Amino acid sequence: MEAEIFGIIPKNRKYSRVKEIKEIMHELVIISGKGGTGKTSIAAAFAALAKSSILCDADVDAADLHLLMAPDIKKKSDFMGGGIAVIDKDKCTQCDLCRDLCRFDAISPDFVVNQIDCEGCGVCVDFCPEQAIDFPIKKCGEWFISKTRFGPMVHARLGIAEENSGKLVTLIRQEAKKLAKKENLDLILTDGPPGIGCPVIASIGGANALLIIAEPTVSGLHDMERVAQLAAHFKVPGMLSVNKFDLNLDQTRNIENLAKKLGINVLGNIPFDPIFVKSMIQGQNIFEYNKDSATSEAVKQIWHKIVNSPPMNTKQDFVVE
Ligand code: SF4
Ligand code: SF4
Repeated sequence: MEAEIFGIIPKNRKYSRVKEIKEIMHELVIISGKGGTGKTSIAAAFAALAKSSILCDADVDAADLHLLMAPDIKKKSDFMGGGIAVIDKDKCTQCDLCRDLCRFDAISPDFVVNQIDCEGCGVCVDFCPEQAIDFPIKKCGEWFISKTRFGPMVHARLGIAEENSGKLVTLIRQEAKKLAKKENLDLILTDGPPGIGCPVIASIGGANALLIIAEPTVSGLHDMERVAQLAAHFKVPGMLSVNKFDLNLDQTRNIENLAKKLGINVLGNIPFDPIFVKSMIQGQNIFEYNKDSATSEAVKQIWHKIVNSPPMNTKQDFVVE
């Protein structure tokens, strides 16, 4: 962390004479409208370029950053979450309120909660006049702090068929921030989940910038638009790169044009290159596999634009007593 003293503040300022500008922690979330766009490989490549950052694998439903990072797990913790509602028939007076309130129609006419339909929202628990509904907390997954060759990594494994992935994303982002403070690192690289659902929303809020990885297809255009709208909603500046752009130049242009209209900063594109698959098979990032390839150079250019972008260079000014 660097601090720059730049002057004496005006007399009418209440506190003190010296103002500092401090660099603050920045989080870049790499995201895509659907899976399989190469976002994780690009996140791993950025980790190699960043040299000192915290890696956060927020794609908890299909985590695969560990395949490229070979994390050495240093700390393992259980992720506890609310599962599904359970009705105690001895206490239940069959008033029907829970059935009226449940938006998921998860409670049968004889007051049994359907384990598959229950989304674990907890509304019935809160409103049952007899306190007849329990919401047992159970282990839904695990999260880890690991060491990798590119710095510390926070990642997780959600249990099979478990819900609550949004909560787990929130948890590991918080842990990544704590770890960044502890390790005095001011950059967090987060491999976000695909889509626009609850885990994506959990991965966006409070981030400094999003990098949207799109593919040059018709659905890629719509996916990019949805993610861009989400970014706008949460007021997180968006940036764009089209992966495999040379497979369809017309669609690449359409995506870029739409992105510009939506206020997304177009950073540059990445060609189709089997290097991503080949390096992943070797458990390497693209720079370890072939740092001199045209694709590696394209990714490097994009990275330089990201680290020099305004959202990734915000500073915090504060007063020293
Ligand atoms: S709200 Fe409570 S008391 Fe009423 S039917 Fe549901 S479980 Fe029974
Ligand atoms: S927890 Fe939510 S989804 Fe589950 S039964 Fe209660 S109201 Fe329905």
